[in-house]
Amino acid sequence: YDQRDGAIWMNGELIPWGDAKLHVLSHGLHYASCVFEGERAYNGEIFKLTEHSERLAESARVLGFELPYSVEEIDQACRDVLKANDLVDAYVRPVAWRGSEQMGVSAQQTRINVAIAAWDWGKYFDPAAMETGIRLAMAEYCRPDPRTAPAKSKASGLYMICTLEKHKAEAAGYADALMLDWRGRVAEATGANIFFLKDGVLHTPTPDCFLDGITRRTVMDLARKRGIEIVERVIMPEEMEGFEECFLTGTAAEVTPVGEIGPYSFHVGEVTRTLMADYSALVRPAEALAQAG
Ligand code: PMP
Repeated sequence: YDQRDGAIWMNGELIPWGDAKLHVLSHGLHYASCVFEGERAYNGEIFKLTEHSERLAESARVLGFELPYSVEEIDQACRDVLKANDLVDAYVRPVAWRGSEQMGVSAQQTRINVAIAAWDWGKYFDPAAMETGIRLAMAEYCRPDPRTAPAKSKASGLYMICTLEKHKAEAAGYADALMLDWRGRVAEATGANIFFLKDGVLHTPTPDCFLDGITRRTVMDLARKRGIEIVERVIMPEEMEGFEECFLTGTAAEVTPVGEIGPYSFHVGEVTRTLMADYSALVRPAEALAQAG
C-alpha cells in the first residue's frame, strides 16, 4: 500500500501518497499510542461520517490524548481525501498517533499526528460466501476485561490479538474467528459485531468489553423498523446450538451471513437476507429508489 498514485491527508495537508511517512521512532509504533477509524463511502458520501469522526476523537481521549483537529475538520478532511482521489465507493481510514519527539513509556511531549487515506475496497468477505454464509473458527484469545485494556477505544493495540486470530483462522481455511470475552461469553469477530436469530428474535451480546459498532446500532434500528425484537444480553457459546441464523455487522463487513462457527451451523434465512437488503438500501438510497421505481 505504500507506493501508488493518490493523495493522503496528513496533519492538515493533502500530500502525495508515497510521501505520507513517519519516523521509525514514532511512539504509536512502539507503544501502540494509536487509534483509527474505518469508514465506507457509497456514491461519494461517507456513511455516518460524523459518528466515525466523533468516535476517533473519543478513542483518542480514552488513550489520553486530544486530536489537534475538531470533529468538523476531520469530517471535511475525510471528504477532501475522497475527492482528491476521485473515489466514490471507497474505504476511508483515519489514524491518529503519538509522534517520535519522545521515546519511552512516558510520551507527554509527543506531537499528535493525524492522517487520512482512502482507497477502493470491495467486499470484506468472499462475495461467493454470501449465499451460504462465511465460516468462523473459535478464537483462543479473549476480548480483555475493561480493567485490562481500554476496550471502548478503537485502539490499534487491541487489534494485536485480532490479527493473530484472523491469521490462524485463515490458515485453517476459515474466513474469520469468533472471540469470546474474558468471562467466556460470546463477544464478536476480529473486526465485526455478531447477531443470532432464534424463533424470530434477534440476540446480540451486550457490548460491555468490545466496540458497540456503528453498523451494529444501524442494523438494530433497521430490525426495529421491521418489527423484529432484539435482545441484548449475555450469550454463552453453548447457546449457539439452538440459534437458526447468524450474521456479522461492521463498516467493512456490512451485513455478512455466517453459516458455521466451529461445531455450530446456521442457515442464511429470511431475517438475515432482509437486513442485508435493508442495509444496502440505506447506504445506497439512490439505487434502492431506482429499483423500487
Ligand atoms: N468490532 C471490531 C473489533 C471492529 O474492528 C469493528 C469495525 N470497526 C466493529 C466491531 C464494528 O464497528 P463498526 O460497525 O463501527 O464498523
